[in-house]
Amino acid sequence: MDGRNPAFAERRSPEIEIIDIAPNLKLLNPQPPIPGYGMFICSYLLLGANKVLVDPGPSAAVPGLFTALDAAGVGPDEIDYIVLTHIHMDHAGGTGAAIKKMPHAAVIAHSRAIPHLVDPERLWNASLKTLGQLALKYGQIEPVPESRITAAGDRMKIDPGGLDLEILLTPGHAIHHLSIFERANRILIAGEAAGVCIDGAVRPATPPPFKLEETLASVDRLIELAPAKLCYGHFGCCDGGLERLKLYREKLITWHGIINAEAAKGKNAAEILAVLTEKDRDLGYLEKMDRDEYAREYTLLLNTINGMAGISL
Ligand SMILES: [Zn+2]
Repeated sequence: MDGRNPAFAERRSPEIEIIDIAPNLKLLNPQPPIPGYGMFICSYLLLGANKVLVDPGPSAAVPGLFTALDAAGVGPDEIDYIVLTHIHMDHAGGTGAAIKKMPHAAVIAHSRAIPHLVDPERLWNASLKTLGQLALKYGQIEPVPESRITAAGDRMKIDPGGLDLEILLTPGHAIHHLSIFERANRILIAGEAAGVCIDGAVRPATPPPFKLEETLASVDRLIELAPAKLCYGHFGCCDGGLERLKLYREKLITWHGIINAEAAKGKNAAEILAVLTEKDRDLGYLEKMDRDEYAREYTLLLNTINGMAGISL
């Protein structure tokens, strides 16, 4: 298995906005103007009989998204579907802003996400509480007209005969989470159901409220698909998808054990992170990050640890 994430081969090249993943799949990096987020937000563009955009990103990324679409030769009026893996701001906060220029796009989201897309006030307040200043940098969440939204059913097909996409509901990272499987090339766009991948290394993404059993059940469903390629919500795609999912399943259990054992000794999340950094070589990626990237990861890792320790925010 090639452990490298090709998206990172040129990670210091800020002008790169499009990465070809497969003949019918491109990664669009909208590069929002937020320090440390230049290689973090991913939108995926699937090109078949229909054109499908997965996760438009936060409002702050929408201008970059349109630039990337333009560079890919796809006009916003050509987008048929926007599929949301989940409605955290960094994935879907910009949906309302984006669809204003995408007159033909139907938004497909988990049924539990729909009330928050239509009336984002509660989501915005919760995001402010959880993310603080970062929520302001991601930008306001504009509402999505209910008439534009379709509820995603489990095993729902999109563009059959064209892209042959299948949606799986995969709660865990969020209760309203889904993943997308492209059958012809066995590509899984996992959102955050397979964790976060930084330069080939994977870490759990388990913010509160977190349920281990539910998360493992979703990973098991993805393992059954035996994907060849795994595309992460953060950041990029890797070969060896099935093996990566199996390793992620093990890592969830290992981290859950370490975190709860250390929490039982009275350690806080920052102290537990120090233990994990010693025990999990994958966290070596932290040493390669610049200050802003490290600050981003540090905050997200504390969220992940708090989720696994059952600490609500
Ligand atoms: Zn998320």
